[in-house]
Parts: sequence; C-alpha cells; structure tokens
Amino acid sequence: MPKVTLKNGKSFEVPSGQSVAQALAAGGITVGPDLLAATVNGQSTDLSAPLTVDATIEPLRFDSAEGREVYRHTSTHIMAQAVKELFPTAQLTIGPALEDSFYYDFAYDRPFTPEDLGKIEERAREIAKRKLTITRREYTKQDAIKFFKDRGEHYKVELIEGFPDGEPISAYTQGEFVDLCRGPHLPSTGHVGALKLLTTAGAYWRGDERNPMLQRIYGTSFPTKAELDAHLARLEEIKRRDHRKVGKELDLISIQDEIGPGLVLWHPKGAAIRLLIENFWREQHIKGGYELVYSPHVARLDLWKTSGHVDYYRENMFPAMKLEGSEYQLKPMNCPYHIMIYKSHLRSYRDLPVRYGELGTVYRYERTGVLHGLLRVRGFTQDDAHLFCRPDQIETEVSRVLDFTFFILGTFGFTEFEVFLSTRPKESVGADEHWTLATSALEAAIKSRNIAYHLDLGGGAFYGPKIDIKIKDALGRSWQCSTVQVDFNNPERFELSYIGEDGKAHQPIMIHRALMGSIERFFGILIEHYGGAFPTWLAPVQAVVMAITDNQSEFVANVVAEMKAAGFRVEADLRNEKIGLKIREAEKAKTPFMFVVGDREVQSGSLSVRGRSGTNLGTMTVAGALDLLRAEANKAGQQLSPTS
Ligand SMILES: [Zn+2]
Ligand SMILES: [Zn+2]
Repeated sequence: MPKVTLKNGKSFEVPSGQSVAQALAAGGITVGPDLLAATVNGQSTDLSAPLTVDATIEPLRFDSAEGREVYRHTSTHIMAQAVKELFPTAQLTIGPALEDSFYYDFAYDRPFTPEDLGKIEERAREIAKRKLTITRREYTKQDAIKFFKDRGEHYKVELIEGFPDGEPISAYTQGEFVDLCRGPHLPSTGHVGALKLLTTAGAYWRGDERNPMLQRIYGTSFPTKAELDAHLARLEEIKRRDHRKVGKELDLISIQDEIGPGLVLWHPKGAAIRLLIENFWREQHIKGGYELVYSPHVARLDLWKTSGHVDYYRENMFPAMKLEGSEYQLKPMNCPYHIMIYKSHLRSYRDLPVRYGELGTVYRYERTGVLHGLLRVRGFTQDDAHLFCRPDQIETEVSRVLDFTFFILGTFGFTEFEVFLSTRPKESVGADEHWTLATSALEAAIKSRNIAYHLDLGGGAFYGPKIDIKIKDALGRSWQCSTVQVDFNNPERFELSYIGEDGKAHQPIMIHRALMGSIERFFGILIEHYGGAFPTWLAPVQAVVMAITDNQSEFVANVVAEMKAAGFRVEADLRNEKIGLKIREAEKAKTPFMFVVGDREVQSGSLSVRGRSGTNLGTMTVAGALDLLRAEANKAGQQLSPTS
C-alpha cells in the first residue's frame, strides 16, 4: 500500500491503484471544481492518475504557476477540439501554455480569419459547457503511430517517430477529440470557466523557416469572467502604453530599416527628454563623488583580447574591422577604457576609491529576432561607472551605490524594487577570501537598508558576486535595470595596482555598476510607466499657450517669451485653427498644461488654464501660471536628495 504524505504533514496509506484525487480526499482535502491537478513527488500530475508508490502530494489550484499551466494547457486542447470540429482538415501540431495565455499551431491551408476566430471561440466555450471527462491512455510507439496516421495527423506521427523506442506514449481524449500529449490536464473540459481567443500569427513548424508555415492561435482563460475581463483590460492598457506605439505618436524616437535594426534615432522631443535625463544623471554623479570621462567607440582588438571579450564575448560583438594593418573593434562595453584611465597613473591607497562615470554608447550583436523596440537594441548608451577600491572599501562603496540607485530611480517615479544577490558560481576566478569578503559586503549593504532580497546561490558572474535590482512599473511589471557587480578578474588581467600603506603594490577591487541600465531601455520603460504622459519636469513641452483668434497673438508671444526666459519649455499655438482642435492636439501630445488666451484674458492679463486630462484649472495671472509650472516641475527628484 503506497504511503501518502500531504503538505499539512498528514501521512496515511491508500490502496495501490487509487487515484490522486481519492488520496487527497482521504486526506481531508475537498476535491471541488477549484482543484485542477496535483504535484506527486514534485511532478505535476493528473488527479485521475493511479498511485502505486509512496508519494508526497500537493494539490494544484489556479493560484499556483503549475496549476495555471495545467489550466491553460487544457484550454488549448479545448480550442484545438473546436478547430477540429469546425475545420476537420486542419492538422494538430503542438499547443503549450504560456505565462498567462496559451497557443496552438495548426497545419491549415490558409490563415484563420477574425470571423473564424469568433466561431472557434464560441465552439470552445460550448465544449467547456459539455463538461467532457478528460482521460489519459498509453500506447506503444507503433500503436501510437498507427493511431495518429489513421486520423490523418501527420505532424503528430512525425513527433512520435522522434520519441525514444520502448517508452509508452500518452494521448488524452475528451469526447471525440484525441491529442498526443504528455499531460497533465484538468479532470474535465468543464473546469475551464472563461475563455477568450486573442490573435492569430504564422509560425514555422519546429520554428524553422525551411519548414511549412503553420497557423497559430493565441488565447487565454480564467476561472471567472471577471478575472478574464480584468486581464483583458490590463492587456489593452499594456498595448495602449507600448513604447513603440507611444514613441511614434509623440514623435519621440524611431528605428528605421535604412539605418539598421536595433539602432535608435532620437527625434527632437525624445532627445529633449534624454537631455534632461542625462543632465540630471551627470549633475548627480558629480555631486556623488564621481569623475566623468569619455571614451572612443572603437579600440584596437588587442584591448579586447586583454579584457577577455574576444575569448568570452565574441558572439555578442560586431565583427572587427581592419585599418592600417591592425584590427579594431566597435566597443561592446566601456570597462577597458576606464581601466586604462586608472592605469595611466601610479595610485596610492589614499587615492582610492576612484569612481569613473560615463554615459558610454556601446554596440552589441543581437539576432534580429530578439530585437524589441527600445528594450532590446544593438546600439545603446549605458549609464556606466567603474569604481576602483580597496577590499576594505567594498561595503561602503556598494552601500553608496544602492542609495544612489534608489534615489535616481525614485526620481523618475519608481519606488518599488526587487533586489537579487547572486553568489559565487562553480566556475569562477578570484581568491576565496575576496569572494567571502565581497559577498558579505554586498549582503551587509542590502541588509542595513532593511530591504527584502532574493538570494541566487551560484548565480554570480564568474568574476565576482553581484546585486541586480528590478523596478516595478505602474502596471506592476518588473524590469531589470540596475546592476552592481564586483570584479576580481579585470584588475588581474590588466595588472592593476595601488601602493598600500605598507609601501607594497596591491590589487584594487573593481566594481561595475549601471543604475538605469541603458538610456534606451530605461526610456522605453519610462514611456510605458507614464503611458507617454511624462511628469512636468520631464515633459518635452511643458505647456502650450494658445490664442483663440489672431487678436491675441502678440499677448501669447509675450507670455511664451516670459515663460521661456523663466526656464520653461513652452510653445505658442498661433495657427488659424479652432481652439477645440488646438486643445485636442495638445492633449494628444500629452502636454501637461494648456494656457488658453481670448480677448477677455488679454484685457485682464490672465490665462485660462487646462490640464492634459481635460481638467479646467480656472483663470490665473501669468505670474500664477509660472508658479504652477514651477511647483509641478519641482515635483521631480531635484527636490529629493540621496539619503547618504
Ligand atoms: Zn495536453
Ligand atoms: Zn564594466
């Protein structure tokens, strides 16, 4: 009799061959519609699976990632059944669950139309209502091949032929529908509450462009209509905020094929924001004890040999170029340049720490398939810095970097963070004592800030431990931005040294750090965080002053001149257009303030003020409007200061 152990500690025996569901019920767990599957000895399993060996069982519901996977995976089978019922000549291929959705690839002679999608969705919902029991059956390889061949499922046959001989092959049946699958699945189609098909796309069989094009359908499912609706609303919001869309609408950036994939053009309005980000970054770094440096975009290949990039990073680099008999390399990183600046002087222990910062543009080779707007590009500017310090300075330096990071990111409106500490991997360089010292220094720096962090044991770089920081945006999505990495390798490779108190040469510890990660990526995140409605201090145009008729042109021009002189980014709209259109356009451009001027305003020397969300802020004097701009622009981080 197999012994069953539950998570609550209960342990008991069940007759061999009893199902997982029966065992859970015997343990006092209600087997209701919310129970989706279970993990048996860590393995996700059908509730109907028979128990034959001792097992630790944990029920799976929709609140766990594994539970959701079974749910979405079963949903894709339901969709596939609907497709087969409506389009019997479509052939099944594969249908996995994704993080919060699912897809299925069908071999069919034409793409599915939106009308098809509507019909398939309706049929899928109906199949769920049929509450078909889902059963698993095992076949020998030969029988499985014959079974699916007879059903005309040639892709399934190809898959089975690739499986190892002698191992049983499972298929799942719901009503008339049978699919080759490893499982597990929900007990019945009726367990899927609310289902929605999202889009279609072409996809090559096995992801290989030499293979036939398949028709992919994406969908998602949730236990209730309310949860589904909330999810769909969030997807809409994500789409609405997509930085590629907003970047185009607000004329901030473009990526053009004539320039090259992954290479970004910053248009005047995007560049205006970048300038603000960069100016703020530079100012704060100088205040924070950094020295700013510049380095060229290319260097001799030999430099990248010394740094190890040629041996370990070549596939991420642009190809080298020949010039006057030597080879040159477009830079994938800034580190070697900063190292060479450090090396250009003899250093004493009293000179340390040395902190070099640079908004350094680097180029990396990424396959075109993985490029994504501003988030993944081939040319980008890192907000990079390298600290050279003594071992006893690591903790203070890392501590300062953490404060600085939270300050900089907080200024841009990010206040929720996830912190990860990654420790020594198996393959690594550097002395044990240095690893221990640096790792505990990083940990101490995090702990003293009372922040929760995740420990990634063995997840560090081969050259040193690191801290990664993810920020949470307005939609609750996490983005990796900041990184602080200790490096024992480069100081060795470049033979860096300083003269210690003992008069002898010692090797400094190097720390690489980027706070925003890259300006491009950070800007992409920023656009989505604000949906393009940047706070006043970052808005490329902070206000538009608009005349109702030509009569007010002179007054408007004077107001704009006065506001510009006060340091604000203000434009005049003197076009011969209706005021309603001018307001709509300024709102669409997400300009924080609109100052409307008619005859009445000219007479009283005032402005009629509107916010970008359509709010009427009443009438103000020009001085009052300037105060408003000043107050709003000051809501940025310039008002804050680093805690250190
Ligand atoms: Zn399946
Ligand atoms: Zn570096």
